[in-house]
Amino acid sequence: MLTPDRISLNTATVKAQWNLQQCIDGCLRHGFGGISPWRDVLQAAGVEAGAKAIRASGLRVSGLCRGGWYTAEGALTQAVLDDNFRAVDEAAAIGAECLVMVVGGLPAGSRDLPGARAIVEEGLARTLDYARTAAVKIAIEPLHPMYAADRAVVSTTAQALDICDQLGAGIGVALDVYHIWWDPEILAQIKRAGRERLLAFHLCDWLNPTRDLLTDRGMMGDGVIDIPALRRAVEAEGFTGLNEVEIFSAENWWKREGDAVLAEILQRGQSCC
Ligand code: ZN
Repeated sequence: MLTPDRISLNTATVKAQWNLQQCIDGCLRHGFGGISPWRDVLQAAGVEAGAKAIRASGLRVSGLCRGGWYTAEGALTQAVLDDNFRAVDEAAAIGAECLVMVVGGLPAGSRDLPGARAIVEEGLARTLDYARTAAVKIAIEPLHPMYAADRAVVSTTAQALDICDQLGAGIGVALDVYHIWWDPEILAQIKRAGRERLLAFHLCDWLNPTRDLLTDRGMMGDGVIDIPALRRAVEAEGFTGLNEVEIFSAENWWKREGDAVLAEILQRGQSCC
C-alpha cells in the first residue's frame, strides 16, 4: 500500500490535460509527495519560473525527464551534448533527484547496434562528467527491447548497470515497471544495483492486449505486472525515492479530467501497489 506522500506525479500522466502549474497544484490538492516534470513542460513554463514554482510548492522532485538521445544525429555531436548539459542544468535548477536518460535508438538507416551503443556510452560518460560538477545524478532508464530501434539501445537493467560500473559514481538506473517486468534477471539485477544505483522507480501497468506500443500504458492494477513484488525488491535494497506514476494513455487516461486521474492513482496506490 502506498500512501499519497510516497507517490510522485510524472507530468506525462496528465500531459494532455495540464501544464506545469496545474500539475503542481494538482499534486498539492491530492497530497502527492512529489512531481517529475518532462523538459518540454518545464520549458513551456520557463525554466526559471517553473523551478521557482516547484521549489515554492515543497514537493520533492523525483526526476527530470529526460536527457539522452545520443544517437539522434548519427554521431555524438556537440549539439547533442549541449542539449544534455542543458538538461543537467535544468535538473539542478528544479532540485531533481536525478536526470532520467532515454539514451536513443539506432541512427536513421543504421543496422550498427554495437556502434549505437558505443555512441551512447560515450555520451553518458561526457554528460556524467558535467553532471558531477552540478551534483546532478544521472539515471539510465533501460527501455523494453521493443524500443531498441527507435528509442533506447539500452534494453536491460543488467546492460545499464554494466555501463554504470564502467563509469563509476554519480550514475545509476531509473527502473520503470513497464520496461523491466518481463526480465527473468530483474530481481537479481535490483539486488546488484543496490541503494547507490537505484535512483528512480516508475509505475504504470502492462495491458494485455496492448493496442499501441507507446501510448497504451495501463493504470496500476489494470494489467499484468506484479508491482508489489518489484516495489518490495527495490525497497529491500534501501530505495527511499518516490513511486513515480508515468502513464502514457492516449485513448484512456489522457481523455479524463486531471483530478479524476490523480484520485484514481491514489486509490490504486492503496489497492494495487
Ligand atoms: Zn519511465
